[in-house]
Amino acid sequence: MQLYNTLTRAKEPFTPAHEGRVNMYVCGITAYDYCHIGHARSAVVFDVLVRYLRSKDLEVRFARNFTDVDDKIIKRAQEEGLSSEAVSEKYIAAFYEDMDRLGILRADMEPRATRYIGEMLQLAQHLIDTGFAYATPSGDVYFRVRAFKPYGKLSGRNLEELQSGARVAPGEEKEDPLDFALWKAAKPGEPTWESPWGPGRPGWHLECSAMSEDLLGLPLDIHGGGQDLVFPHHENEIAQTEAATGKDFARFWVHNGFVQINSEKMSKSLNNFVTIRDIFGYCLPEVLRFFLVAAHYRSPLDYSTEALDEAEKGIRRIYAALAQMDDALAGTKWSANAAPAELLAELDGLEKDFDQSMEDDLNTAAALGHIFGMVRLAGRVMEDKALRKSQGGKAILERIRGGFARYAAILGVFGSEPARFLADLRDSRAARKGIESSKVDDLLAQRKQARQDKDFARSDAIRDELAAMGVEVKDTPVGAVWDVA
Ligand SMILES: [Zn+2]
Repeated sequence: MQLYNTLTRAKEPFTPAHEGRVNMYVCGITAYDYCHIGHARSAVVFDVLVRYLRSKDLEVRFARNFTDVDDKIIKRAQEEGLSSEAVSEKYIAAFYEDMDRLGILRADMEPRATRYIGEMLQLAQHLIDTGFAYATPSGDVYFRVRAFKPYGKLSGRNLEELQSGARVAPGEEKEDPLDFALWKAAKPGEPTWESPWGPGRPGWHLECSAMSEDLLGLPLDIHGGGQDLVFPHHENEIAQTEAATGKDFARFWVHNGFVQINSEKMSKSLNNFVTIRDIFGYCLPEVLRFFLVAAHYRSPLDYSTEALDEAEKGIRRIYAALAQMDDALAGTKWSANAAPAELLAELDGLEKDFDQSMEDDLNTAAALGHIFGMVRLAGRVMEDKALRKSQGGKAILERIRGGFARYAAILGVFGSEPARFLADLRDSRAARKGIESSKVDDLLAQRKQARQDKDFARSDAIRDELAAMGVEVKDTPVGAVWDVA
């Protein structure tokens, strides 16, 4: 498999350092608020990567942390009148709720920073002992950036460039504005731990270096996160770990692209943050997941409700085809005709294309395109009356339908029961338009009764009422079915 490595700025063949076993660490959330669409994207991207590697029979040991001590948590705790611990507990619980609905598998290891204070202190002390860090008289500890020669190798920034933008804040006792905090001396009202330099708390970057080495060992095969973490967070993680151990930290650095909102950068100041739960109020979780999977993970992704609507149409098409295939396959009489060779060859090609797309830097966008190709092929089989009822047609439909078990396991979409999904989707679209599903069902029952009573004026009036509500009714052999027009 080819994977783009931020460190080398190139796609490289990915193989783990130990055959058959992948050590993967992804930076998780700082637990001070509800997760937004950017978190959803990162979670889905690395979830698909883990699922795909596992589908190739690799044993993946996956760690994703929770930052549960941080300036933002402390600030939120003061605003909400809670302890920092209560704030992080609350938002970690919310994280699990959102991510479970999004179909994100739990990581194998989910360490929290506050449980790794001892390891972080050791790492900071070791960096001081080896000259890579220093303690200040007021009890802060800083990493001496200029002592670590390769600094900037991940982000491609050089020290002069960084120097021009760096400032020393009032009260900081840095030797050099480039230096970053490993440990921060206690301030009133903050959670603190004892340290050789007095009471304080860890800087943000230190935890990932301490936890990843402890849980997975070095080098990591894959270190991941959002593109916004490349600098300074990941650059600083590399400095800490490689200065302390003399070993390579991670072999592959994998970063997912940004999410924009209506073509603008998402930011607190623009007040255009969209939380995952906001989106779940609009569409089904699987629609959001499909929307995220439908883009290549490194491309910027533009979020808008129009884009979600498009994604919804796409996944609906797939599920409608799956439902049709299930119907077709429920038949019992099959003629002996074999499948046309050209259709089989086409299917071979599409299946191969799916795998090749996934192998090419996890190109889920292209992979989905090939899935749509298979669905179109199934459509052609089902539209051909003779083929549809033949052993050959059945074999093609079974093969396409069967393939979805694998696509669902890898992509985390298409795993729902089609009828169930389509019903949920219809209810979700109805709710968005203010249509009450129970009221529609009620009217349809009245219409059925009116027809049985041969009261056609009444049944027409009901049909008109439903049409005015934006409901489309189709009469089928199994009764009336409705959808949102
Ligand atoms: Zn990290």
